[in-house]
Amino acid sequence: MNIHRILERAGLRPTLPRVLVLEFFHQHAHEHFSAEQVYKSLNGETRNMSLGTLYRALGLLVDNKLLNSVALGEERLVYELNDGKPHDHLVCTACGGIREFFDEQIDERQRAIAGEFEFEVSGRQLVLFGLCAECRKGRVLVRTVTRK
Ligand SMILES: [Zn+2]
Ligand SMILES: [Zn+2]
Repeated sequence: MNIHRILERAGLRPTLPRVLVLEFFHQHAHEHFSAEQVYKSLNGETRNMSLGTLYRALGLLVDNKLLNSVALGEERLVYELNDGKPHDHLVCTACGGIREFFDEQIDERQRAIAGEFEFEVSGRQLVLFGLCAECRKGRVLVRTVTRK
C-alpha cells in the first residue's frame, strides 16, 4: 500500500504529518490509539510534529474517512484505521482493553431503524463497557485471596 497514493486519491496533499499519521495506522490496523499515544509513538522518530499539527492531521483524516474516531465514554477518544468494515467495540473499564466485534443482526437492525426514521446514516457507534475475561479472572482471584 502506498500512503501517498491513498492520500492523493482522497484529494489530500501528502504532507509529512499526514503521511506519518496514516502510515502509523496502516502499520497498526485493528488497533486503537488516543492522540497522545500517536504523538508519543511518532515523536520517537520525528520529534518535530507538534500536538496541534497531529490533531489537525487526525481531524482531516477522519473527515476524509481514512480514519475513524471512536468515543469510548466521555473522557476517552481513540482513532483507528477505517478499513470500510463497520464494527462495534467492547471496552474493559479495568484494563482499558478494546475488542472489536461485528454482528450481522445488529447491523441489519441498525439499517432497519434508520430506514424507519428515513435517516441517512453517516456513522455508527455501539460500545459495551464492562470487564474483560482476564480482568474478571483477576477479580475472582482477589476475592478468594481477601476472603482468607
Ligand atoms: Zn480488562
Ligand atoms: Zn475498532
